[in-house]
Amino acid sequence: MSKYNDKQKFIAERIDETTVKSKWMDWRWQLKHAVHDIGMVEKLLDIRMPAGERRKLEKTVKKFPISVTPYYLSLIDTEDYINDPVFKQAVPSVHELTLSAVDMADPLSEDKDSPVPGITHRYPDRVLFCISNVCAMYCRHCTRKRRVGDVDSIPDRKEIQAGLHYIQENPVIRDVLLSGGDPLMLSEEYLDWILTELRAIPHVEVIRIGTRIPVVLPYRITEPLVQMLKKHQPLWINTHFNHPREITASSREALKHLADAGFPLGNQSVLLAGVNDCPRIMKRLVHKLVQNRVRPYYLYQCDLSEGLSHFRTPIGKGIEIIESLIGHTSGFAVPTYVIDAPGGGGKIPVMPNYLISWSTNKVVLRNYEGVICTYKEPDSYEPIFCDRQCENCTLQLKLDDASEYQAVGIASLLSDLDGPVSLIPRDNERLERRNNGNGRE
Ligand SMILES: *Cc1c(COP(=O)(O)O)cnc(C)c1O
Repeated sequence: MSKYNDKQKFIAERIDETTVKSKWMDWRWQLKHAVHDIGMVEKLLDIRMPAGERRKLEKTVKKFPISVTPYYLSLIDTEDYINDPVFKQAVPSVHELTLSAVDMADPLSEDKDSPVPGITHRYPDRVLFCISNVCAMYCRHCTRKRRVGDVDSIPDRKEIQAGLHYIQENPVIRDVLLSGGDPLMLSEEYLDWILTELRAIPHVEVIRIGTRIPVVLPYRITEPLVQMLKKHQPLWINTHFNHPREITASSREALKHLADAGFPLGNQSVLLAGVNDCPRIMKRLVHKLVQNRVRPYYLYQCDLSEGLSHFRTPIGKGIEIIESLIGHTSGFAVPTYVIDAPGGGGKIPVMPNYLISWSTNKVVLRNYEGVICTYKEPDSYEPIFCDRQCENCTLQLKLDDASEYQAVGIASLLSDLDGPVSLIPRDNERLERRNNGNGRE
């Protein structure tokens, strides 16, 4: 059973003296009493910020609004709130208004790679579909900070329909990632409608939901919601825990409910200075996640969005964390560390190097302990020339099972068939000189 502890009771009664446990656990009550100003944060946590800082925070909130559920607020350790990981993710910092030269409103170019509003089509076979503009809690480190609270309304049916139409018209799309905002903030009926429409599209093989609800409003994971979602399998759910302290009795219950219903659960963390930039904290987090049947999926380097500079760490911190996990703990507890490339390049994995050297028939590797090993490659491997004529190949792939495939990017450099020998940026000066007749034949 979910706990209702003394801190929660204290906060609940400061909101309304008549609050009882059942109200606290009602997600609608939580949303109705979400905190939208600094004064209320102080009141509910029984803390007092220095006057100068308070003024600056009020200015910050005008540009980047605040919203925190009483539940998430109750996870803060008020004795040391300045250093508290939950406080730092939920309550603004005066540093948010310090723009650094590298900051961008839309660093991932999600708007530029958007064929219709709400859809970002960046990868060949999958799209990001933002179907909600609302969140239960406004993460201070939100990569879509430009939009938070801006148009705090749910995209209308027409807009969603345009997105659905785009997916229908593009048979290459086999995976649709629902995000927002938070999709689980929509009403059950509305989300049911979107999922039904998506399921009716034959080429959509999997649907994913990205949500922070289990972290910031676990009471939203109700039986009716889960029953509705269950109708739309295969459905993958990715959540966003950043610190082991966020895994509470209530969030564990929400995760159990989802896992028991058969949804594969993943977690995407963001590496945040002052919150989780520590190998010991991250190891504790991934262990708690797998105990609750959640597989760590990605660890994100903090994006270059405006107002996040105080959260960024060097890349080395992420590599150090991954180094402390690979080999040291269960393979499925290790997330892939990625940088979402500015300009829309997509997620780029960055991992420690294990391949140390190489000869024509041997590779030299190192393991997690620092032991250096060799692997002898086969002398007799007969490579199969691939001309993509699968019917003439001895490997067995029936053509109707094969996906349409054209080698792209680095894979095209590796391909046997009419692949390019180099990839050259369009505005390469050297080639421009050739085109201008300044080179020999
Ligand atoms: C992250 C992301 C995806 C999904 O990427 P995966 O690596 O498959 O999880 C798809 N589209 C966009 C725009 C994304 O940012």
